Amino acid sequence: MEDVLKNSVRVTPSDKIRFKCIGCGDCCRNVKASVPVDCQNAFYLTKYLRDTGMDIYCIDQFLEQYAEPELLDECGFFVYFLKTVGEDNACIFLKDNRCCVQEAKPLACRLYPFMVDPNEFGGFRYLYSKERTHHFRGPVVETRSWMKKNFPPECRAFMQTEYTHAGPIAMQLRKIPEHRKTEALLHFHRLRYSELDLDKPFLEQFQRNQVKLLAILARMTEEI
Ligand code: SF4
Repeated sequence: MEDVLKNSVRVTPSDKIRFKCIGCGDCCRNVKASVPVDCQNAFYLTKYLRDTGMDIYCIDQFLEQYAEPELLDECGFFVYFLKTVGEDNACIFLKDNRCCVQEAKPLACRLYPFMVDPNEFGGFRYLYSKERTHHFRGPVVETRSWMKKNFPPECRAFMQTEYTHAGPIAMQLRKIPEHRKTEALLHFHRLRYSELDLDKPFLEQFQRNQVKLLAILARMTEEI
């Protein structure tokens, strides 16, 4: 992940690059701990697999089968990345050089070769990855149009919700004593991943759950 950021360049909405997907599958190989599956991606991927008859019925089952957790911070804040398979660490969803979850692939894949980062003003910083230089041929792509197509309002709202809540959640987790850490992390997992009804709109549930999580963690730290 750090390598990706090291090889990226900041761009403005009006900047243009040349880019064409040539279907080589290169960006889906050697991606161990590189393709993030945020809570929103996990929700839509689970729903997609369920609705296409893939024997997946809930987010926990999806995460167990297709993702692996990584600790983001020593307070216990963890995130998920897609699992990889084979010697070339190919994404678990790469089949015959094609993405088999194209319609529901994670935001990072939809945005590629661009990336986004929320800022404190409710906006976003845009970057593009300079890796795999053979992709940077073909038609001219404007950052703004790419974002309009691949970064819809619900993703923006989700990212801003994460930006607003992740810091305070991490702060509360840091205050939880060791003997109550497991309990706190079970609430963390439940309210960020498990307790989302796939048949109801994602964002409202997620936003409500983050507020609930913060209240539970705050209460736990007060009880010490
Ligand atoms: S989800 Fe699809 S596009 Fe994304 S890395 Fe995996 S195979 Fe590639």
